[in-house]
Amino acid sequence: MHTKAIRLSKNGGPEVLEYVDVEVGEPGPGEARVRQHAIGVNFIDVYFRTGLYPMPLPSGLGQEGAGVVEAVGEGVSHVKPGDRVAYAGRPNGAYSQLRVMPADILVKLPDDISYETAAAGMLQGMTVWYLFNRTHQLKAGETVLFHAAAGGVGLIACQWARAIGANLIGTAGSNEKVELAKAHGAAHVINYNTEDIVQRVMEITNGAKVPVVYDSVGKDTFTRSLDCLQPLGLMVSFGNSSGAVPPFSLGELASRGSLFITRPSLGAYVATRTELEAAAGDLFQMISSGKVKIEVNQRFALADAAQAHIALESRKTTGSTVLLP
Ligand code: NDP
Repeated sequence: MHTKAIRLSKNGGPEVLEYVDVEVGEPGPGEARVRQHAIGVNFIDVYFRTGLYPMPLPSGLGQEGAGVVEAVGEGVSHVKPGDRVAYAGRPNGAYSQLRVMPADILVKLPDDISYETAAAGMLQGMTVWYLFNRTHQLKAGETVLFHAAAGGVGLIACQWARAIGANLIGTAGSNEKVELAKAHGAAHVINYNTEDIVQRVMEITNGAKVPVVYDSVGKDTFTRSLDCLQPLGLMVSFGNSSGAVPPFSLGELASRGSLFITRPSLGAYVATRTELEAAAGDLFQMISSGKVKIEVNQRFALADAAQAHIALESRKTTGSTVLLP
């Protein structure tokens, strides 16, 4: 059977994304065929498109979606045809109406969570889950710095930190974004285009600085993030929206007081079925309880995926973005 999907045969700008007809077969062993109702757009899709993260070409793109299982291959028992499901993870290929994919990353979707919410929130929400529960156990009363607080991951992080009772100091690139992050629970938000991040963090914490910085901006904020950390603090460098962090000397950690650093990615944190179900289960509970609302602030037709990338890369988006097949 045929479906419409986004494909790319070379790396480059948004113009390399082509909307084409592709053949979809029957699921093989360990696979499922999913009819997608909504597809998540994430910054990682930009990295794969540009080639910052390499992948074999030609290829599909996209790591997140939600829909209905149409068929399963041999050995798949945790989902069956007719189930509502959602997923986040590799391989690339989510930008498609219909896809055959590994079934082991599929989780069943509770009835009260819509396809759109799941497709927008699985990847970004499970990321916040591991950042606050695994990379570092965020505690009530703790103050942390979280960059790009009005973005997809950011707005979820603001709400999740508020639910824990932690003080999240966010950063954002415009006054509107500052207000949005505050409205979602950030205790303080710094406009990093007009304010000095380190000085503001010093003021807010009465000179104490923070024990943890979550930095997904990368190149532009890396050194200032290190400067915001207390001795023995933890630098969580989990993204590169402004470009990859250049190589640096380990002496930078020593001179600031024996800092720790990690460069995590979601895949390693949900590599087992037990951890995947823990992550998805906790996320769904945060959503169902109303503590976290997945803000879908941009919707594009699947055919217009390139427009979604242009919006995301030019910092015009807030919250999450979906493609509708
Ligand atoms: P966002 O919605 O947060 O969009 C990225 C935001 O980064 C922009 O809106 C912008 O906000 C900010 N930004 C700062 N500098 C730049 C720049 N030069 N170009 C573009 N944007 C910039 O995206 P996502 O929620 O999808 O992802 C957020 C980050 O988290 C990404 O870096 C992503 O790769 C990372 N991530 C990492 C994961 C992991 O497991 N390691 C998993 C999921 C996401 P502003 O205008 O306020 O500066």
